[in-house]
Amino acid sequence: MITRPIQHLLLAALYDAFAEWADPFAFVCSKGCATCCTRSVTMTSLEGDGIMDFLAEADRRSELTAPAFQPAAKQMAQVTTNAFVAAHLRGESVEEAENWDLRPCPFLKDATCSIYPVRPFGCRLFASQDPCAVSGMAEMPPGYLAGATALLQYIEHLDNGGSWGTMVELLAGMNTGQAAGYGEPTAPISGFLIAPDERALVEPLLQRLLTREIKGQTFAQWLQLARS
Ligand code: SF4
Repeated sequence: MITRPIQHLLLAALYDAFAEWADPFAFVCSKGCATCCTRSVTMTSLEGDGIMDFLAEADRRSELTAPAFQPAAKQMAQVTTNAFVAAHLRGESVEEAENWDLRPCPFLKDATCSIYPVRPFGCRLFASQDPCAVSGMAEMPPGYLAGATALLQYIEHLDNGGSWGTMVELLAGMNTGQAAGYGEPTAPISGFLIAPDERALVEPLLQRLLTREIKGQTFAQWLQLARS
């Protein structure tokens, strides 16, 4: 188990490594385009901490009591990323959530993200090489999603003892001190879903991150400590 401040440093390093890796891709996303900004974005309570601090500093915590943050009658997200990958690796089929809420994210103001500096990784990874508002689908380079999913798994692994769920529901729960009631417990990494033809793209991202030094230890060493 590692401390929360270290977890936040590791999360910042991960965001950094991902941004450097994704920079060369020719994505067309720009400010004002918010097609992917829905209430179905998922995250961990580690990422939620950063959002809670950001809202508190801006005196915006009261936003979380608005009706837009009330959880749905039936919890939307039920299988964490690591639990999903583990089930696939065991050869089990995993039922996808049927009730994703595709209404706009409550943090969207004038088609712009109002928590942009602290948006969770689930928002950072969404990108498209074609305007998805036109095609209705995000176009990503082969292997991009595999790399992003590996990083989602690292974040969940780091948040040992934390919760995972939709951002909207988890924040509502965190605001009342009941995050565990709105999310699933985070799980450790048991493997990855990276196809052989995706490795050439994904491995440089993982290598860059795993060898990064934070407070005298590499990211890889911190990952081991997170669940020891
Ligand atoms: S947090 Fe920001 S980037 Fe993420 S879905 Fe909401 S408005 Fe979009």
